[in-house]
Amino acid sequence: MADRAAMLAELGQEIATCQRCALAATRTHAVPGEGPIHAQIMFIGEGPGEQEDRSGRPFVGAAGQLLNQLLTRAGLQRSDIFITNIVKCRPPRNRDPQPAEATACRPYLDAQIALLTPRVICLLGKPATHALLAPGASMGKVHGVPQEVDGIIYVPLYHPAAALHQPSLESVLVEDMERLKQFLTSAI
Ligand code: URA
Repeated sequence: MADRAAMLAELGQEIATCQRCALAATRTHAVPGEGPIHAQIMFIGEGPGEQEDRSGRPFVGAAGQLLNQLLTRAGLQRSDIFITNIVKCRPPRNRDPQPAEATACRPYLDAQIALLTPRVICLLGKPATHALLAPGASMGKVHGVPQEVDGIIYVPLYHPAAALHQPSLESVLVEDMERLKQFLTSAI
């Protein structure tokens, strides 16, 4: 455990100085992700926004506030889960990450998953769902439905930022989190 914790911390340091893609030139801080090595649940978003770029921490802006409330709905403590993103550096003006940026960053995410060996990975939004579970899938079809692949249970969820822009999605997300709570009691 101590070795894996040290490796996770080392990976975070490597990410902090990464120059693998053009986002390195415009970021303030890379955002490796945070959470304990013993986390059994990971949440994966799209990429850091302005507040995250400023602080170096994931989901600390408006979407993060909503995520915190949603975690409470699911009976989860933020300090027990590992939260990260598909890309670790903020795309300028919060544009979508480009495929080359996501590809350059992917080995970091894969290494985090390999070190943490989570039982459940919640995929926040389309980019995470497409990259890790179901390329091209419609969120309307797959949200809230757990799918097990190679021993990991993936749960696609709408991204909290989408719910901030489209309030009708917030109640869907709340329902999905409550279902996740039921599900986690049997899965973990
Ligand atoms: N949106 C994301 O996808 N990730 C963050 O860390 C913050 C907002």
